[in-house]
Amino acid sequence: MGIIEKMRLDEKKIFVTGGARGIGKSVAIAFAEAGADVAIVDLDFEAAQKTAAELKEHHEVETIAIEADVTKPEDVDNMIEKILNVFGRIDVAFCNAGICMNVPAEEMTFNQWKKVIDINLTGVFLTAQAAGKIMLKQGGGSIINTASMSGHIVNVPQPQCSYNASKAGVIQLTKSLAVEWATRNVRVNCISPGYMGTELTLNSPSLLPLIEQWNQMAPLKRMGRPEELQSICVYLAGDTSSFTTGADFVVDGAFTCI
Ligand code: NAD
Repeated sequence: MGIIEKMRLDEKKIFVTGGARGIGKSVAIAFAEAGADVAIVDLDFEAAQKTAAELKEHHEVETIAIEADVTKPEDVDNMIEKILNVFGRIDVAFCNAGICMNVPAEEMTFNQWKKVIDINLTGVFLTAQAAGKIMLKQGGGSIINTASMSGHIVNVPQPQCSYNASKAGVIQLTKSLAVEWATRNVRVNCISPGYMGTELTLNSPSLLPLIEQWNQMAPLKRMGRPEELQSICVYLAGDTSSFTTGADFVVDGAFTCI
């Protein structure tokens, strides 16, 4: 079998949090193209249903739409139960749901701080932990977490200390889980995207004036496109990445190199 064939995801059962739109949706499309059955998990159930239906229609795979708030342990448990009821197993978890908030540190309220940490860091822990428990029982699996280049550098000029801290946390959480579960065949990696054109960035009024500035700073002079994260996630989900765990893939067009 050639390498491209070996990278296919036929028979794999995958869930994607924040899968209704943006990076999650784009990567979910790639998983389906590669042959996997995909559960789209999102707070926005209507959008999740639309994405799940699109995937099923275009790629002839099984899909499920699940409404869940990744910050709520009961929602995460319910999500796992629904996936197991329909798919019977979980081979890959893409823990991707996240939000961004730009507020100067001295003005940030406790609730604003907590919201970002709850979704971006605690949400990734809860979903990775829940998936990991199933994968440990099954004898293996692959978890991919979405961190950010903001876990490596302090972006300017927007003030986003909670976001930066949450994403640095995701990188270290990823490495910790990878080491804990290494001998039990559960691999845990993360991706650290640079600025990508998604609803999170393009629809945030506070970010719009900054986009031109970021593009000027960026070595490639542009933002990334969500589809430019597809191949790394298909690689991490599949069996050819069997020696890759605890890794953090920075996909930022060299932004963190400047
Ligand atoms: P997006 O806003 O386009 O999509 C995020 C999705 O997550 C939405 O569908 C939203 O409903 C869902 N979501 C939010 N909170 C949730 C919760 N509590 N439970 C379940 N679902 C929830 O965002 P995106 O740009 O696609 O970002 C996806 C991930 O990528 C985030 O973790 C983000 O921090 C990260 N990221 C984005 C960029 C970028 O420039 N867009 C760069 C680096 C990292």
